Amino acid sequence: MKNYLIKIFLLIALLPVIITAQPKPYVLLVSFDGFRWDYLNRNITPNLDMVIKNGVRASSLRPVFPSKTFPNHISIITGMYAENHGIIFNKFEDVDTKEVYQLSDKDAVRNPKWYKGEAFWETAKKNNIVTASFYWPGSELYDVNRRPTYYKKYMHNFPYKKRIDGVIDWLKLPQSKRPHFITLYFHDTDTYGHKYGPNSHEINISIKRLDSLVGYLNNELSKIRMKDSINIIFVSDHGMTEISDKKIVSIKNILYGLNYKFGGIKPLAMIEPNEKDFELIYEKLKRNQQHFKLYRKNDLPRYYHFNKNKNIYSLLLVAEHGWSIINDVKTIDLSKHSDKGNHGFDNNNMDMHGVFLATGPCFKSGYSVGTLWNIDVYPMLCKIFNIPPSPSIDGKLERIEFLLK
Ligand code: AMP
Ligand code: ZN
Ligand code: ZN
Repeated sequence: MKNYLIKIFLLIALLPVIITAQPKPYVLLVSFDGFRWDYLNRNITPNLDMVIKNGVRASSLRPVFPSKTFPNHISIITGMYAENHGIIFNKFEDVDTKEVYQLSDKDAVRNPKWYKGEAFWETAKKNNIVTASFYWPGSELYDVNRRPTYYKKYMHNFPYKKRIDGVIDWLKLPQSKRPHFITLYFHDTDTYGHKYGPNSHEINISIKRLDSLVGYLNNELSKIRMKDSINIIFVSDHGMTEISDKKIVSIKNILYGLNYKFGGIKPLAMIEPNEKDFELIYEKLKRNQQHFKLYRKNDLPRYYHFNKNKNIYSLLLVAEHGWSIINDVKTIDLSKHSDKGNHGFDNNNMDMHGVFLATGPCFKSGYSVGTLWNIDVYPMLCKIFNIPPSPSIDGKLERIEFLLK
């Protein structure tokens, strides 16, 4: 009798909580690597057009600087600039220990010490939310508390439909085990954008291929009756622009015979001169400043948010749009620079902007907005799940929360 009375008392006390408690949302975050914002305007994406009709479309998604894959996926998932989350390039060295981080090195990519930000799946885990990732840079860390509950080891050629099937299998798990936040990644538009350029026939085929995968995803979600209850956010990490083997600056030609360390990526080079040659190297680069801009680390414009990190070298060279900076002697081997497209340039240039679309019960319908910043996606995810964001983020909820119902 006493137990019975206690139960009734508890039920009455908790009634307001039970009534107002919202069901925990489901969110699928899909990344189409290198999908430039204007690929949606080519009239070849019927399935994404339906997403636009029923959900939210931003005119573009602004990447962080440098507009490369790993820095930006980590920015989206942590809400931080690259200088703060630590993954400043796809490849860089720790200037103290000389260890190298690079995306082709599985051990480095899984080593938690490189990642200074808190990924959304970590924030979710602290709040008892089950998460999963069918690929995302930084999702495979050795530390179980810093990776999603379920994750996959990256396999570049793993078939696209099977990635979607994997997501569906997770969503079919019993309630207590089912992830509420899932990431999914496709490299296609990046690969074809590099090889053939953003204005090629081949990139249009790639865009169509991704769009038809959206159709497949919708069908599979309908089959498990989750199509209307899941929120799907489509993003890309950056855009793409045409490059040419006639627009190449060779640093070795300029600094021949001098000692320096070279790092970075073609549109953005970092140079650490040998201490005694510092001023000479600076002067030589300044005198030859054509088709790139030279900055001392601390003079890089603040809008790039790219100088606070110790692993950024002392001198930075930002290529003019469409140009490449290499450390080979220019005339020797141009064949290995035969790509037709690249990214990594000034992140404010529209060619570097990606896409943002979202649909589902949390999002407004038929709502079109201006450019969003990718560092604001993380605080938006926290808002959707009603959990506190990590305190050290750069993203701002007020720049994005108007998308939510
Ligand atoms: P990039 O165009 O150099 O910025 O990098 C794009 C490449 O990153 C893709 O072609 C993938 O091969 C690679 N990539 C994407 N996600 C991962 C991951 N989770 N692990 C390792 N490599 C990845
Ligand atoms: Zn990318
Ligand atoms: Zn790329």
